[in-house]
Amino acid sequence: MGDGTRVTALNYISRATGEEKQLVLAGIFVQIGLLPNSDFLKNSGVALSPRGEIEVNAKGETSLVGVFAAGDVTTVPYKQIIIAMGEGSKASLSAFDHLIRTPIPSAKIAVLA
Ligand SMILES: Cc1cc2nc3c(=O)[nH]c(=O)nc-3n(C[C@H](O)[C@H](O)[C@H](O)COP(=O)(O)OP(=O)(O)OC[C@H]3O[C@@H](n4cnc5c(N)ncnc54)[C@H](O)[C@@H]3O)c2cc1C
Repeated sequence: MGDGTRVTALNYISRATGEEKQLVLAGIFVQIGLLPNSDFLKNSGVALSPRGEIEVNAKGETSLVGVFAAGDVTTVPYKQIIIAMGEGSKASLSAFDHLIRTPIPSAKIAVLA
């Protein structure tokens, strides 16, 4: 909520009770980036964690053969740039490794960043 020039309050719904509440305050710090954008994978065969992160193993493999994932959208701990970069490299190498061992050239593969 605001008065046209500054923030005056925050309206929210309590997770515990579902009740709508208002907190009067003078400012807010917004923390973003905690919600994985993985809705499109629901019912795809790619397993998601209870938080909606794509479950990956140490090679970036998902539960669906030929599908690899990396970065913040996965279950990898510590969501940081350098980790996402390394995980992306790892998933790419795993995808390459998968392809050279896959006899059918048209096998489906997706690297999700
Ligand atoms: C506010 C904030 C501050 C941060 N500060 C730091 C910091 O100081 N140092 C640090 O190391 N890390 C920091 N991070 C974390 C860092 O930004 C992430 O760890 C990193 O960007 C993860 O890279 P990623 O490629 O996995 O995901 P992202 O950078 O989120 O990239 C995912 C991309 O996929 C796109 N996308 C999403 N859904 C779809 C779709 N369905 N189809 C096509 N494209 C799609 C998105 O638009 C986006 O471009 C910060 C994050 C936030 C939110």
